[in-house]
Amino acid sequence: HAKAQGRRQVQRFNMVLNDAAEERLRLERDLRRAIEGGEFELAFQPQMRMSGEVVAVEGLLRWRHPEDGLQMPGRFIQAAEDGGLIREIGDWVLDRALKSLAGWRGAGLGQRIAINISPRQMAQPGFFDRLRSLIAESGAPAEGLEIEITETLAMQGSDAVLAGLRDLRADGVAIAIDDFGTGYSNLARLKDMPIDRVKLDRTLIRDIADSADARTLVHSVVALVHGLGFQAVAEGVENQGQMDVLRAIGCDAVQGYAVARPMDEAAFLAWLAGRRDGGPFRAMA
Ligand code: C2E
Ligand code: MG
Ligand code: MG
Ligand code: MG
Repeated sequence: HAKAQGRRQVQRFNMVLNDAAEERLRLERDLRRAIEGGEFELAFQPQMRMSGEVVAVEGLLRWRHPEDGLQMPGRFIQAAEDGGLIREIGDWVLDRALKSLAGWRGAGLGQRIAINISPRQMAQPGFFDRLRSLIAESGAPAEGLEIEITETLAMQGSDAVLAGLRDLRADGVAIAIDDFGTGYSNLARLKDMPIDRVKLDRTLIRDIADSADARTLVHSVVALVHGLGFQAVAEGVENQGQMDVLRAIGCDAVQGYAVARPMDEAAFLAWLAGRRDGGPFRAMA
């Protein structure tokens, strides 16, 4: 009995595995088609300084799947990496971001654009050289680009990756550590990182309006970040209560639904223009 039951369980397990494997294969095949078919888009989410100034915007990848609709990166980035497609997709993102940046500079807009780079992307041979030539070809200034790397990459990246980041920063590209507070940080190493700012993960921000402990933690992290000479940006800021706490703490900038959701480029530009004429967060300056 127990044996038969065990067999059935193994069978069921294999079926689930097969379903997952099939699903994964379909995803990789669709991603391959998406690159050629122009199904990717970039959404733009502003970063606002506490003064009210919008100095940067993060470009977030979206995939408009012809049958399944809009797909968020959490659903396909991992598959793209496993399927060996992250280089092409990452290059598309960079090219798209640099084109927007060049356009904004042409229109007299000074915002920086921040792009996410996954550890596997950065570890690819020639990544830094390719990035440098993409910047050069785009005609956009290196100073207008920021790259966001993960805390784990920052802490465990190879010497080659660190050297690459250092050179990139010397060229004028800004560097941020993303989702800070979700990984393991080696504080001795953090102080030597070639970075400009640290983005505090939204899990750190979530409870600051209600919890004194959460406030203490964020206050300490911001003090640490400032002490090392970096800027602190809060992620996932969703309400005015959190905003008030972050202002009191001295956080440099905020990003989140309380400022704006990610938008397509036209909507972002309209939003920006609206603010200059006295937008909703003007009064907060
Ligand atoms: P991330 O870089 O930490 O980006 C912030 C994520 O939080 C975005 O999710 C954004 O839509 C979401 N978000 C922004 N404000 C709020 C808020 O107030 N509340 C909440 N709950 N969420 C907020 P998204 O766009 O789904 O991206 C998820 C992750 O996917 C990103 O996290 C980033 O790690 C990765 N990603 C996005 N675009 C790219 C890309 O082009 N390349 C790579 N390698 N990774 C990317
Ligand atoms: Mg990011
Ligand atoms: Mg983040
Ligand atoms: Mg995050």
